[in-house]
Amino acid sequence: MPPIALILFGSPGSGKGTQSRLVGERCLPGPHISTGDMLRAHIEAGDTIGAEIQGLMKSGRLVPDELVNRLVEKRLSQPDARGGVILDGYPRTVAQAAEVRRMLGLGGMLPVVVHLVVDYDRIVARLSGRRQCPVCGTLYSLSTNPPKVPGVCDLDGATLVTREDDQEEVIRERLGEYDRQTRPILDYFSRDGIEVVEVNGADADPASISQRICAALENAHSQQGPGGCL
Ligand code: AMP
Repeated sequence: MPPIALILFGSPGSGKGTQSRLVGERCLPGPHISTGDMLRAHIEAGDTIGAEIQGLMKSGRLVPDELVNRLVEKRLSQPDARGGVILDGYPRTVAQAAEVRRMLGLGGMLPVVVHLVVDYDRIVARLSGRRQCPVCGTLYSLSTNPPKVPGVCDLDGATLVTREDDQEEVIRERLGEYDRQTRPILDYFSRDGIEVVEVNGADADPASISQRICAALENAHSQQGPGGCL
C-alpha cells in the first residue's frame, strides 16, 4: 500500500494547521510539513532566505515557487517522510501543484487532497482573533480555543503573539492571493483526475472535522486495494 501524502487545501484561516495536528494524532503519523512554518523559521533565523522573503510574507504575498519547491523537496527526502506526510499550505500555485505531483510520484506516495471549505467572513474573524506561541508554534483562538491564562502559552508559558500577517488588511491580501493563485489548483487537479474531497471546515468542532478527514483518508486507502490500514 503506498504511503499517503495528505494535501490539506484551503484558504488562509480555514484550519489547516489545527487539522494537520489533529489528523497527525488521530490517523496519519508522519511529519506535518507546513511551508508557512518553514519560511517563518528562516525569517527568525535571520538567514539569506529569510531576508529574501520577509517583505513578501509581511504583506501577505506568496514567495517564489522555486524557493518553496526546493524547501519541500528537501524535507520530503528525509527518512521520516517516507511513511506518509501532511502537507499544509503547499501547493499554493498551479506550478507548485505540478511539482508536488512529480515529487510524490518519485516517492511512490498517494496524494489525497482534502479541501477545507470555510466562508471568508468567518475567516477574517478567525484570523484576527488568532494568537500563536512564538516558541512551540501552538495556535490559539480567542473565541473558540483560548489559552488557560490570557496571553500565555499553555505548553511552555511563552507570551503569545499576533502574526504580522494576521492584521485585517493583510488577511484581505492573503485571501486575494488565494483566489488568484491557489484556488485555480482545484481545476488543475480535476483536469488531472485527482479527486478533491470537500470537507466543511466550519460547521463542527475541530475534533469532529478531523474525524471526517481521517474517514476520507481511509476511503482513499481502501480504494487502493484490500488490506489498507492507516
Ligand atoms: P501560512 O502560514 O501557510 O498561512 O503562510 C504564511 C505565508 O507564507 C503566506 O502568506 C506566504 O507569504 C508564505 N507561504 C507559505 N506557503 C507558501 C507557498 N506554498 N508558496 C508561496 N508562499 C507561501
